[in-house]
Amino acid sequence: MRILLVEDEKRMAEALCEILRLEKYEVDHYANGLDGLAAIESNIYDIIILDVMLPGMNGFEIAKRVRSQGIATPILMLTAKAELDDKVTGLDSGADDYLTKPFMTKELLARLRALGRRTLGTTDGILSFADITLDTSTLTLSCTTNGQSVRLSEKEYRILEYLIANNGQILTREQLAVKIWGFESDAEYNNVEVYMSFTRKKLSFVGAKAEIKAVRGIGYELRCDDV
Ligand code: CA
Repeated sequence: MRILLVEDEKRMAEALCEILRLEKYEVDHYANGLDGLAAIESNIYDIIILDVMLPGMNGFEIAKRVRSQGIATPILMLTAKAELDDKVTGLDSGADDYLTKPFMTKELLARLRALGRRTLGTTDGILSFADITLDTSTLTLSCTTNGQSVRLSEKEYRILEYLIANNGQILTREQLAVKIWGFESDAEYNNVEVYMSFTRKKLSFVGAKAEIKAVRGIGYELRCDDV
């Protein structure tokens, strides 16, 4: 899971980054609202933790802009103030959940786990698209019409998970490279193509009608034309 933290208080941000990394989340941090908004628009995050009072642009405004663009990534809003008004404004602006500072680490982690399940659109550990299902615990791909299944490698699994989560949207090769291999990684676009080809082979192995289509010059999408 890749988390974006937008928080301008340096000590708070450092503490949160440390906690989240210990919990094996990948974390990127920005202190300015405008930088945070630009990062969210890259659409490579699974969860966004958004402070309300930020330089550049406040958290409510960021959440509104993001939602108006159709980006559905779950947002957990943080605020120093406990007023009910803020809570209402936070949820109105498109935040999914709300946490008042100071909060307990345990509470934060519980909220993140809940939002993470929402990201994957699953409570039972099964993701589905057209005639395929993906078991999130065993990394198994199955075809629902013929019962065939196959175990995926971690990268193949993450590619399909990302495509399913963005149902109907084209993902660019850059988004895939960043999301699956990370910003720092040297994974060139070739890697994306190689793993796309592995993943396609698994789809055809199970006899799925759902297909990964290349969109020339842009990227990839998961489609099922033959229903
Ligand atoms: Ca702040």
